[in-house]
Amino acid sequence: MSTSVPVERVRNIGIIAHIDAGKTTVTERILFYTGITYKIGDVDAGTAVMDWMAQERERGITITAAATTTTWKDNQINIVDTPGHVDFTVEVERSLRVLDGGIVVFDAVAGVQSQSETVWRQADRYHIPRICFVNKMDRVGADFWKTMDSIRERLNARPIAVQIPMGAEDQFKGCIDLVEMRAFTFPEGELEPVIGEIPAEYLEEAKKRREDLIEGVAEIDDQMLISFVEQHEVTALELKKALRRATIAGLVNPVLVGTALKNKGVQPLLDAVVDYLPSPIEVPAVTGHTKKGEEVTREPTNDEPFSALAFKVVADPYVGRLVYFRVYSGVAKQGAMVLNSTRDGRERLGRILKMHSNRREELTEIEAGQIAATVALKNTFTGDTLCDESQPVILEAIKFPEPVISVSIEPKTKEDQERMGEVLSRLVEEDPTFHARNDQETGQTIISGMGELHLEIIVDRMLREFNVQAHVGRPEVAYKETIMQPSDAEGRFVRQSGGRGQFGVVKLHVEPGEKGSGFKFENKLVGGSIPKEFVPAVEHGIKEALETGVLAGYPVIDLHAQLVDGSYHPVDSSELAFKMAGSLGIQEAMKKARPVLLEPIMKVEIATPDEFFGDVLGDVSSRRGQVADVDHRGHLRVITAHVPLAETFGYATTLRSITQGRASYTMEFDHYLEVPHSIAEQVSGRMQGATRR
Ligand code: GDP
Repeated sequence: MSTSVPVERVRNIGIIAHIDAGKTTVTERILFYTGITYKIGDVDAGTAVMDWMAQERERGITITAAATTTTWKDNQINIVDTPGHVDFTVEVERSLRVLDGGIVVFDAVAGVQSQSETVWRQADRYHIPRICFVNKMDRVGADFWKTMDSIRERLNARPIAVQIPMGAEDQFKGCIDLVEMRAFTFPEGELEPVIGEIPAEYLEEAKKRREDLIEGVAEIDDQMLISFVEQHEVTALELKKALRRATIAGLVNPVLVGTALKNKGVQPLLDAVVDYLPSPIEVPAVTGHTKKGEEVTREPTNDEPFSALAFKVVADPYVGRLVYFRVYSGVAKQGAMVLNSTRDGRERLGRILKMHSNRREELTEIEAGQIAATVALKNTFTGDTLCDESQPVILEAIKFPEPVISVSIEPKTKEDQERMGEVLSRLVEEDPTFHARNDQETGQTIISGMGELHLEIIVDRMLREFNVQAHVGRPEVAYKETIMQPSDAEGRFVRQSGGRGQFGVVKLHVEPGEKGSGFKFENKLVGGSIPKEFVPAVEHGIKEALETGVLAGYPVIDLHAQLVDGSYHPVDSSELAFKMAGSLGIQEAMKKARPVLLEPIMKVEIATPDEFFGDVLGDVSSRRGQVADVDHRGHLRVITAHVPLAETFGYATTLRSITQGRASYTMEFDHYLEVPHSIAEQVSGRMQGATRR
């Protein structure tokens, strides 16, 4: 098996789920049934195929996004691993970027959980066609139709049952395929499902549900509507084709059912991947731009010039630096010189590897639509475009959020100190949401990331994988500053006392920018009050000043600055003078624009047994938490709340102690919000005299 599979028989998919919904188990069973793994591993025993990092096994969460290739009935399926934990949303984003379709796994008892909600919205943004798998039908309280409802309501999706379950909980026997009208059962120990007639007791329901399915598809697919109106009988093939069209168009989500743990429902799920999810030629052609900014499109064919996106860099213990990439157009050959258009450097492609779960396959070339890894690229990082030197294109880069939390780390021994720098730079390279820097004033090493757990895992990896021990300081919140109202100000940098002086005067107007808009600068000069060549210096000065806000010295975000007027001196004006004027002007303007401090707010979902509900809720309030939703899920109460990051430190320990270890929670960065006045004062107070960042 190799890339010789025609591209229409390739599926690039991801398996997406809330932590614990069964993503690892589903992935593993898929690898097993596709003939790659030799024995059914058991997540609980920690031998899952995809969970290959030590602490992933221990924590039972999947962090890395590597790609595994497998084969199902002459189709090649590339599974891009997506992380199951919300601290790693960026890993999800980057996987989504290179996927063509997804399997979203739900727990039949819990239904839609907050994390699935987050990932679902991310997948919406990337227009990823999805099929759903309602897993854990064997669990007490499993309810297929309730899960369908929660998909419809909480995700605002259009789930459509293409299967129905036969039984539930310990009576769950298998599933009925409504398209072909046949029943699947999965006798224990057998590799193949038994396909047979629908048992009499389910026939009536199956007929009705098939009608619903056809009607549902007919509502959105004209061809289906015509068959439905004109014919008495809609054939399985017609229905399958219509469902495929509607799924790829993002209009419906076919839903399947089973239990991965009990080996029921996995083979039909694989059939559905082939039947309903798109091949690389059925998704829109990728667009990018040239260096000059012209938009270009690359079709997913081998005749187009080569273009690819690097989506993951890992330090592989066997082959060294491994870059995973997706080819969007053209063919890449081993040894070929390619252009890294993002960094404007040439690189020679080394060996091209396809990762199977138990072996590596070496290829001499890799075609459009495929996903593979390569060694020997030295200067290519996550999000970079690789392309044909003669036809450069830059594909849209992957956006990474800025870290929200920092801690200082100190090596334990001299030996640790020597190795820490090298290890940190490797980890930074693998994970664009992880930053590390030296604080010049204190001499400390500061690491930053997307949450407490994110940093814990990094420190853990340093120890386990690289044997570097470090003391960890108190976590610090990455506050930001912004302004709440428009203002105008003048910046003057004038030194004229004999000889050549300095002269730069600018008038600035500032306005609060929309959330997430960052910094924007506009030149609104009319006439020649300042010569054009000094304008970039003004912008530069403003940008530099915004790195330390006027309130507490934190970076300023979402501010829109306009250069409206100014004056210059024919001899004394210089770039430096205008840069200084820009800095002074913006500081003045910010002071008058009601500056505020912003803090990261985390979205927290806590599932607790009823008896601890009151205590958990009380604790959330005492952390300045705002409860957004309270829900029942089986015998659990589920609280969704927004809590300032600053109040969440050590939450795992507190929650464990108030619930005797019986509650679980997930936490992720959600947005920035103005800090209440009293707390803002404390923070600014702390910052005065402390190191400015
Ligand atoms: P992930 O966090 O989404 O990767 O979930 P895992 O695959 O690690 O599964 C979480 C837990 O649920 C593990 O203890 C699994 O054994 C269990 N699990 C997975 N699938 C099923 C299932 O179909 N039925 C039951 N009862 N448990 C399951």
